[in-house]
Amino acid sequence: MASNIPSEQWAQVVEKTGGPIVYKKIPVQKPGPDEVLINIKYSGVCHTDLHAMMGDWPLDTKLPLVGGHEGAGVVVALGSLVEDIQIGDYAGVKWINGTCLQCSFCQQADEPLCAKALMSGYTVDGTFQQYCIAKAAHVARIPKDCDLEAIAPILCAGITVYKGLKESGARPGQTVAIVGAGGGLGSLACQYAKAMGIEVIAIDSGEEKKAMTAKLGARHFVDFSTTKDLVGDVKALTEDGLGPHAAILVAVNEKPFQQATEYLRPRGVVVAIGLPAGAYLRAPVFESVIRMISIKGSYVGNRRDTAEAIEFFRRGLINAPYKRCGLSELQKVYDLMLEGKLAGRYVVDTSK
Ligand code: NAD
Ligand code: ZN
Repeated sequence: MASNIPSEQWAQVVEKTGGPIVYKKIPVQKPGPDEVLINIKYSGVCHTDLHAMMGDWPLDTKLPLVGGHEGAGVVVALGSLVEDIQIGDYAGVKWINGTCLQCSFCQQADEPLCAKALMSGYTVDGTFQQYCIAKAAHVARIPKDCDLEAIAPILCAGITVYKGLKESGARPGQTVAIVGAGGGLGSLACQYAKAMGIEVIAIDSGEEKKAMTAKLGARHFVDFSTTKDLVGDVKALTEDGLGPHAAILVAVNEKPFQQATEYLRPRGVVVAIGLPAGAYLRAPVFESVIRMISIKGSYVGNRRDTAEAIEFFRRGLINAPYKRCGLSELQKVYDLMLEGKLAGRYVVDTSK
């Protein structure tokens, strides 16, 4: 390891499920043979980090846990087997920290489905610390002309919504509803959809999110908290009144997961991405069959999706606004998230 790597660092640590997070000094780890150590400069804050702290999902986290999985920084140490990434390179730690690279899913580039996948900020320590370890094979390669702060949200939110839009099968000129459009994933979904030539109906609540999604390229906005007929409103916003071709569900409540099949046009595709605690997908069998509705889940993206999502950013097609604060202020971001008051993404600076 290089000599200027400290032995201790600042981190936000979940010591028990349910929180609170504790800002404290912890040791810097050494990378294993197939791993790299990255000096995280900035990390995005995903709602997943809040689910992890609260213990929302039927999957245990490690404890104590350093959360975070949208970390952008500089490679500072390499394991003995690592050859294709250098000290000084820009790199990103994403949700999929490592996979076996051998199972049938890994062989087919479905790495998120690998049974041995390590998850940053969930089953291994993540990016709410100044020095983070990841498997070299899965580290996101970030070109040197990219801004490390602005690219951080791409490393989960960007990859995930780009993949979800591809999974929806929506083509240029077609319309998608983005449900939860004013949040972190949603704001990036508006931009990726626009860059892909897809028309957006944004669904979320409040004037701030309405104005933001319009700036990001959404043509229409439906406020779920004030509308009396969400299904009718969404359908009426499509030219032929038949509804959008797909719904990208990035909301954190169950209700929109039940509504989506009702406003989609025949052959419409529901892409479930958001992971509200304890929620179920329910749809009427009769209407879903005779209207040939598809319902699918979409889970982050593979290494190719990562490279493509980063390339959209590098080309200047993605510049969603984000707010910034110090790593020490992470709890403030969680509070805003819990209240649904956070428009877009927060990025934390690990030096503060
Ligand atoms: P966020 O809190 O930034 O955004 C959620 C948005 O949903 C908010 O703007 C909120 O107002 C909106 N919302 C709440 N109820 C709604 C409703 N009834 N209709 C429409 N919008 C509604 O969260 P985020 O960081 O964007 O994450 C969103 C979800 O996606 C989380 O559950 C997260 O865990 C999940 N996620 C999934 C994947 C995946 O691979 N599938 C990856 C990353 C995140
Ligand atoms: Zn995430």
